[in-house]
Amino acid sequence: MAVRNILNKRDETLHKVCKPVISFNERLHTLLDDMKETLAKAQGVGLAAPQVGVLRRVVIIDTYDGTGVHELINPEITWRSEETQRVQEGCLSCPGEWGYTIRPQKVKFRAQTRDGDWYEEEAEGLYAQAVCHELDHLDGILFLEKVVEFIDPEEEE
Ligand SMILES: [Zn+2]
Repeated sequence: MAVRNILNKRDETLHKVCKPVISFNERLHTLLDDMKETLAKAQGVGLAAPQVGVLRRVVIIDTYDGTGVHELINPEITWRSEETQRVQEGCLSCPGEWGYTIRPQKVKFRAQTRDGDWYEEEAEGLYAQAVCHELDHLDGILFLEKVVEFIDPEEEE
């Protein structure tokens, strides 16, 4: 495993639409393992493949709730709750920038495992927020576009 470099928002890779994963091979598994190590080192909640320069529909999420690192390959949101949450958000590709976003309280999604098996899951709270944030990355969208109010870091102290 290796820690990969996390791209900054200025990199054009982060503004492109990612392609689906077709081969569930050793290369994908290495990417996932490297992304896990990269996320742990950065102490982030989620990481999308384009953030490490790979334009494929791969996301990992760890909400530190004891359920471990979730791997989402070719994920699609299939349902969003009408109930929303107003949450603080940041991004490993946008260091020092924080803001409030309005995200669904719950989402349902389908995705594939690292071996290509489809599964469905319901996510709530921080997990739902992370699913929305990371899936946006796969379509070249940064959370900055979703911010309803930016947070001045000096006011937070
Ligand atoms: Zn992000």
